[in-house]
Amino acid sequence: MPGLYIVATPIGNLGDITRRAVETLAACDAVACEDTRVAGKLLNHLGLSKPLWRHDDHASDADRARVIEAARSQAVVLVSDAGTPLISDPGYRLVRAAREAGIAITSLPGPSAAITALTLAGLPTDRFLFAGFLPPKDKGRKDALQALAHVPASLVLYEAAPRLTRTLAAIGEILPGREVAVARELTKLHEECRTGSAEALAAHYAAHPPRGEIVLVIAPPPDRPAEAPEDADALLLAALETLKPSQAAAEVARATGLDRKALYARALALRRP
Ligand code: SAM
Repeated sequence: MPGLYIVATPIGNLGDITRRAVETLAACDAVACEDTRVAGKLLNHLGLSKPLWRHDDHASDADRARVIEAARSQAVVLVSDAGTPLISDPGYRLVRAAREAGIAITSLPGPSAAITALTLAGLPTDRFLFAGFLPPKDKGRKDALQALAHVPASLVLYEAAPRLTRTLAAIGEILPGREVAVARELTKLHEECRTGSAEALAAHYAAHPPRGEIVLVIAPPPDRPAEAPEDADALLLAALETLKPSQAAAEVARATGLDRKALYARALALRRP
């Protein structure tokens, strides 16, 4: 049938493509894709050959109009390089324009790194917020984390390997005491999911620079706001891993609103053997 078919593709392991995705790719008239070489490799792996139309973040209104016009009479598949299109990938504007144009649209569910990481992390899944990539520069990254600090949900972020250590350090600073999972190379040979405090993970990855693709999952903030300094022990202990008691107290005071002097006294007590 003519229309736009949004098709999720594997995030590493080619065995993860769904039967319906293969059937749809086999039956379609054309594939709109982020990168024709990447999509070409997938089709080749499936023994298929289809016209490939580049449709990436730089697509113009005219490019979108061409895909939409084609989808009135042909079956056009939209794929990204990996995973679910539109999820930190191109496609949102195309889908919006196709909807406005009255084109039939359907979405074939399949792999996405965000959901795969969330299911693996062992952190609460009842509520989560996917925040895509954080800004690359230090200030923007910290501001973005600050804006997410009080969201009562697990946070799911995409990150690039060269930035991981700095991002973990920023998480330790802005969201002290929150458990973090680093899910790396999901569905691939060197898949790993490492959990711990952001500070401990930052130290690990500083010593073992990571490679590959990464998703971060951060635990939600504590259920109830801290009322007494001892309620903040977990935060203080995490902060004390890298900071002096006075700095740890200041940081936890900022995060919880508790009295800094009381936290300082508590930090000194916690530090005693
Ligand atoms: N649309 C894709 C999806 O549904 O997951 C995400 C595309 S986004 C441009 C690419 C980012 O997703 C990577 O930088 C990484 O953060 C994450 N990612 C993709 N594949 C991954 C994998 N196999 N393991 C861990 N993270 C992955």
